[in-house]
This record gives sequence, structure tokens and C-alpha cells, in this order.
Amino acid sequence: MEHRCEVAVLGMGAMGAATLYQLAKAGVNVIGVDRHHPPHDQGSSHGDTRITRLSVGEGDAYLPIVRNSHRIWRELEALSGESLFEQCGVLVMTSGPDYDADDASDFTHRTLHLAQTHGIEHERLSAEQIRQRFPQFSPVLDTAVGYFEPSGGYVRPERCIAVQLQLAETLGATLLKGETVTHIRSDEQGVTVTTDQRTIIADRVVISAGMWSQGLLGAPFDRLLRVCRQTLFWFELEETAKFAPVSPTFIRHQGAGDDASYGFPPLPGENSLKVATEQYSEESSPDTLDRTVSAAEALEMFDTHVRGKIAGVSSRVAKLAVCAYTVTPDSHFIIDEHPSLKNTLVVSACSGHGFKHSAALGEALAHWCVRGSSELDLSAFSLKRFAGVTE
Ligand SMILES: Cc1cc2nc3c(=O)[nH]c(=O)nc-3n(C[C@H](O)[C@H](O)[C@H](O)COP(=O)(O)OP(=O)(O)OC[C@H]3O[C@@H](n4cnc5c(N)ncnc54)[C@H](O)[C@@H]3O)c2cc1C
Repeated sequence: MEHRCEVAVLGMGAMGAATLYQLAKAGVNVIGVDRHHPPHDQGSSHGDTRITRLSVGEGDAYLPIVRNSHRIWRELEALSGESLFEQCGVLVMTSGPDYDADDASDFTHRTLHLAQTHGIEHERLSAEQIRQRFPQFSPVLDTAVGYFEPSGGYVRPERCIAVQLQLAETLGATLLKGETVTHIRSDEQGVTVTTDQRTIIADRVVISAGMWSQGLLGAPFDRLLRVCRQTLFWFELEETAKFAPVSPTFIRHQGAGDDASYGFPPLPGENSLKVATEQYSEESSPDTLDRTVSAAEALEMFDTHVRGKIAGVSSRVAKLAVCAYTVTPDSHFIIDEHPSLKNTLVVSACSGHGFKHSAALGEALAHWCVRGSSELDLSAFSLKRFAGVTE
């Protein structure tokens, strides 16, 4: 079987679904391929919720992207009738014995600085204000500093993907699910994509393969990307009232080092609090990823990040999940043309903070495919910055 199209999108997770939708909306003849049946729980885009906020502590380059995403989530909600983006507010705080108030690299400080620089609506909170406004987080040490952004909150990853894929299909996109891309080659005729079921010849290709990117992209990505297993925990609530009527999404740093956790308020109709941490030291791969979470891991999470830190939560586990980050050497994105495959754009190495940007990146990549450039400045994410690593 041979199929022709203007653009093929390889991988229909967060990045691919957004790109596919935007291309279909622009009237492009587009085919999407995915080895699984998205939305699914085998990649990096599951687990009910993803944090979003405008003051992205990771840096200035992300602000225009997340702004556009917030606009697009609302457009998608209007089109689909689905609830995708909950603006419950985001609380970022540092409260820990090692906290150094003069440390400008502290995540809460960076978040505050970015918000001040770019005029993002926010409040700077003292320890006492955090205690009064958010008594569910305790104890809060006197040295604590807090950042509250009312327009932040969380997005629903599985719903966002499902809505964009449905809309793309309605607009004429072809979705090939349960089909694996095995080879990509480019020449003067275009880009030839081989799957386990057919050949697709496209004018352009967008590769959004998440944690499978290393294998599909080859050099230099195989030397740049690392897959890091992450665990997600939902603990049953003992006192629902502590989180009513609204509770924010939160990121809590302890001070020096990377001792941090984040979490989400209970979802409507659910009685559990989702909490997680990040780890970058243990490397995995799509084939070797341990997808089970042990009771010991759940207990350690509770003891380290919930017990004595978040009130009204029991140690009873309601749900567990494993997900993976695809991480670059500097933890920023790689979004660029493939150096040896012509007419091929690469997205997906999003180092564990990409979902909030995915809707806008889909729009930017669609513009890139159609017009050869995008209005968003994505130069900060180019491969060039790793020239020293890849040579
Ligand atoms: C635990 C966890 C928490 C996170 N929290 C946040 C957060 O709070 N806020 C935030 O903004 N971001 C967060 N992120 C990051 C964000 O979720 C990811 O950056 C984003 O979802 C990745 O999307 P993706 O499209 O690159 O990958 P995926 O959504 O995994 O999509 C890749 C797709 O490619 C398909 N595929 C792969 N290989 C092939 C092939 N050979 N042929 C066909 N199909 C293929 C896969 O089946 C998959 O569907 C988090 C990530 C994790 C894991």
C-alpha cells in the first residue's frame, strides 16, 4: 500500500495531535500515524492532569508559547464542549530548612522574576499569607516564599489529545492508529515513511514520537536524548473540605537541591490528591521502562512529600501510574529540522514540561509546514546549541 500526502505526522500524542489538528484546520492533506491508540497510557501524555502557568520558571522563551496554548485550549473547548483547561490557580513555593532567600536560582524566585518582568498577574506571598490562604500546605516555615498565579491551573492531557484528533479527523485528516513507523528516508521526491503496514510519501514530515524519538531519529538525537521514568501517585483524601471549594495546582520546593514535589487538586467527583516528583538520574528506554509502581515507592512518596506537608490526605493509594520524560542535556526542548532528513521537523524532546506548550507548538509547526516559518520564535530550541556535544 502506498499513500501520498502533503504532511505526515509521526506520533499522535501531545505534540502530534496538536500539529495534526492545526494542519487539518489549515486545509492541508495530512496523515497521522501512531503505534498505539491515542490517547493511551504508554507514552508521556497520560495521568489526568498537567500543570500550566504563564510564568514558566524554565525561562522567557516559553512565555509566548504557553500564552498561545491557553488561547487554543479555550478555542478547543468552545468547539468540542469538553472541559480541558481548569484555571484553579498555581501556587509555587519554596519552604524548607535549606532555603536561601538570596538564591536567585531558586525556582520560586525565577518564577516571580519572570512574572514581574513580563507583567503576568500574580501575587508574591509571605509565609504567613501562604498559611492563611492555603492551610492545606503545612507546616510552612517562616522563611518561605510563595508565588500565586490566578490564571494558571491544569489541563487534561487525554481529553486534549482526544479532542484534537477528533477535530482533525472531522476536518479530513487520516489517522492511522496501531501502526508503527519503522523507517524514514528523504530525497528529492519527498519523505518516504515506511510503517509495518504501508509506505507513505509526504512532502513534509513532523516527527513527534516522544520517548521513542531516539530510535526513530537516529544521530545526533540518540546521543542527546535520555528517557527518565517518572511515577505518579493519587492518595485518598481524609478531609475533602481542606481542598474545597478550590485548591490550586502546586509546586513545592524545599530549598537547596532538587527536593521538590508537585500536585493537583482533587478532580471533580474524585476523592484523591495527585502528587509526584521528578527524577533525572535513572535512565530507561521504551523497551525496558518498568511500568509498575511498588508499594514501597508509594510509601516513600507519602512519607517524603505528603506526611506532615499536606493536610487532610491519607496514605491509602487510589491510583498509580508510570510515565516518562524525554530529556535533553540542558532540559530545554529540541524543536528543529532534522539535520540529515530533508523536509523533516523534529519536536517531542520536551524534557518533562511540554504539555502546557503543545497546543501552540502544534500551531507553530503547522505554520512551519505550510509557510516555511512560524510567528513564534523557536530559535531557543534549535539543535545548534548542542554542536559541541554532537560533533
Ligand atoms: C509524569 C509526567 C508529568 C508531566 N507533567 C507535566 C506538567 O505538569 N506540565 C507540562 O507542561 N508537561 C508535563 N509533562 C511533559 C508532557 O506531558 C510531555 O512533554 C508531553 O506530553 C510529551 O508529548 P509527546 O507528544 O512528545 O509524546 P507522547 O504524547 O508520548 O507521544 C508520542 C507518540 O508517538 C507514538 N510513537 C512513538 N514511536 C512511534 C512509531 N515508531 N510509530 C508510530 N507512532 C509512534 C507513541 O505511541 C505516542 O503516542 C509531564 C510528563 C510526564 C511523563
